[in-house]
Amino acid sequence: MSLARYSSGVMAITKSRIEKNLRRITENIESACRRVGRSPKEVSLVGVTKSVGMPAIKGLLDVGVLDLGESRAQELSQRGAELRMHLQRRRNQLRGPVRWHMVGHVQRNKVRLVLEVADVIHSVDSLRLAEAIDDRADRMERNVDVFLQVNCSEEPQKFGVPVGAAAHLGELISTMRNLRLVGLMTMGPLVDDPEKARPTFTRLCELFVDMRKDKIGGDAFRDLSMGMSQDYVVAVEEGATILRIGTALFE
Ligand SMILES: *Cc1c(COP(=O)(O)O)cnc(C)c1O
Repeated sequence: MSLARYSSGVMAITKSRIEKNLRRITENIESACRRVGRSPKEVSLVGVTKSVGMPAIKGLLDVGVLDLGESRAQELSQRGAELRMHLQRRRNQLRGPVRWHMVGHVQRNKVRLVLEVADVIHSVDSLRLAEAIDDRADRMERNVDVFLQVNCSEEPQKFGVPVGAAAHLGELISTMRNLRLVGLMTMGPLVDDPEKARPTFTRLCELFVDMRKDKIGGDAFRDLSMGMSQDYVVAVEEGATILRIGTALFE
C-alpha cells in the first residue's frame, strides 16, 4: 500500500480537539469490546504522528498518549531528536516514558537510524532485516521489541511476509539474542468499507493463535498490531491489542 504522507503537512490542531477525538476513539473501542466480550484494557493505541507537527505531538502527550508512531526512518529520527529535547524540560510531568514505534517499512540501510529512536519495530518482514536489527541492537547493547509484519490480504505491492511463511520466520526471529518477538502486525486493504478489512484481521488472529499454540515467541508473544483510523473498530472486534491511529486523532 502507499505510505504517502498526508498532503496537509503541518496543521494547527488544538489540545481540546485531540482530546475530543481521543474520547470518541476510546468510546468506539469500548463499544466494540462490549460487542465481542473483550476487556478494553486489552487494547492500547499508538498515536501515528506522520501527518502532524510538533505542537500536535506535544498535544498527544498532554492527553496521555505516550506511545508514538512514525512510518519513515528519517522523520522518526528527526522527531525523536526534537521531542527528546522537549522532554528534557518536562519529563517529570508525564505519567511514564514516551515510546517510539516504527510502523512503516524499514530498509536495512536505515536500521541504525531507526534504532537510535525506536523502542518497538512493527514492520519486520524478512530474515535479512531481522538479522540486521539484531546485529545493530547487539552493537548498541540493547534489546528491541519487534512485530512480524504479515501480508494477510494478498495485495502484491504490500510489505509483509506471506501467511504461509510467517510461523517459520517468527521461529527464527524468536531465537535472535537481541530481539523480542512480541506479536504480529498487518495492514488492512485500502478500501472505503472497513468490513472489507475483516477477513485480513481474522486471518492474522488465526495465525497468531496457531503460533501461540506452537509456543513461538513464548510469553512475550502476545500482541496483535492491527487497525488504523479507517478500520480500527473492526480490528478490535477481531482481536487487535494495539491500534495504530493517526488521522482520526487529528481531524
Ligand atoms: C500512517 C500509518 C498508520 C496510521 O494511519 P491512519 O489512517 O492515519 O490512522 C498506521 N500504520 C501504518 C503502517 C501507517 O503508515
